[in-house]
Amino acid sequence: MRLLLSFALWPLLAVSAAAASIFSDGEGTSYPPVDALRLVSEVANQPIVVAAETFLGHGAIGGYVLTPGAVGQEAAEIALRILDGESPAAIPITEGNVVKPLFDWSQLQRWGVSELQLPEESEVRFRNPGVWAQYKLQILAMLVALMIQAGLVAWLVHEHRQRSLAETRSRNAMGELANMNRLAAAGELSASIAHEINQPICAMVLKANAALRWLTAERPDVEKARGALRDIVGTAHRAADIVNSVRAMLKKDTNAKVPVNVNSVINTVLALVRTDLQSRGVRVETQLDETLPAATSDPVQLQQLILNLVMNAAEAMRTVQPRVLKIRTHRSVAGMVHGTIEDSGVGIGEADRDHIFDPLFTTKSDGMGMGLSICRSIIQKHGGRIWVAPAASRGAIFQFELPAVPAQSRYDQAA
Ligand code: ADP
Repeated sequence: MRLLLSFALWPLLAVSAAAASIFSDGEGTSYPPVDALRLVSEVANQPIVVAAETFLGHGAIGGYVLTPGAVGQEAAEIALRILDGESPAAIPITEGNVVKPLFDWSQLQRWGVSELQLPEESEVRFRNPGVWAQYKLQILAMLVALMIQAGLVAWLVHEHRQRSLAETRSRNAMGELANMNRLAAAGELSASIAHEINQPICAMVLKANAALRWLTAERPDVEKARGALRDIVGTAHRAADIVNSVRAMLKKDTNAKVPVNVNSVINTVLALVRTDLQSRGVRVETQLDETLPAATSDPVQLQQLILNLVMNAAEAMRTVQPRVLKIRTHRSVAGMVHGTIEDSGVGIGEADRDHIFDPLFTTKSDGMGMGLSICRSIIQKHGGRIWVAPAASRGAIFQFELPAVPAQSRYDQAA
């Protein structure tokens, strides 16, 4: 009755248990019933309902089936009771719970039967688990790994952006500091600069007066006047160089890279600080390589680099004697221009040597500790390097290297 009611709720199914009872075909070929069932099911236009669990998985959709396992278990239990001494006559005959609604998942799919349409307590066998059911853990692990990876990538991108922002800010700040450093140097050297400009003007006035006298004399001495005028032109050029280098100190960074003669820049700086060094009792010795190739650099920044190193050297020699500043240049291997600024000052303690290029490192009560870090940033911007070593007897030797203009482009410029 229960079977009939359930099937009434399940109109799609056709009861065809007969297919499971075929043992041979019309031509007399014998088949095990499960093979016959499979062959019939391949061409069936209706689902096949069977009555025994053993036919499940061979093309039948299922149904209320007899389960041999349950039958065997119940029989074994009764046998055990008899073996334990119970009289078979005393054991009551029961209906047993050996018929169950069992179904084949693939056949339900084939005939489009929803599991909701199956009788209550139905068991569906041979489920073919989907990719999700089969690889749930692996998929979850992959998703977690992907999410971690995506998070990491996002974090790295964010970090990279923050870093470039910080680098830009630091570059801008360094540029501003470099400007301030030049303005401070101009202020510090103002007396020396005024003297350096005044002196050639006085010399020119004297020479011009002499030339006038020689030309307005009763017998004009044109040759002497010509010589004086030539001197005036030379002196005017030197004065113009000083004015230009002061203007460079007051100018903002242009970051323009052009071929620069490092020897000329050193001479310009020495002209700027000549009076200052004289008043400090510093003797200057130069050894500048005349065959030095030009360096690719910003002339304003190069002037600032050398000025900082020279001023530091002069400061380091304030309390010692003798005060000798040696400046040398030479062409170094691998297409670099090499500069050396050596002083006979107090020198740099070994512990300080690793920090003197760090921003804000100073041993002076009124120092800012930015001069050398600006020097290093200028050199780095030019693709060069700067380092320091103790001088042979006393003092410090600062050395720098800058890339020279490549030989081919020197040839092009000469042409
Ligand atoms: P500041 O001159 O304001 O201290 P710098 O960055 O120019 O800043 O120099 C940092 C420190 O390096 C100085 O305080 C000094 O101790 C040391 N220093 C720089 N140049 C020399 C030098 N030629 N001899 C000895 N010490 C030096």
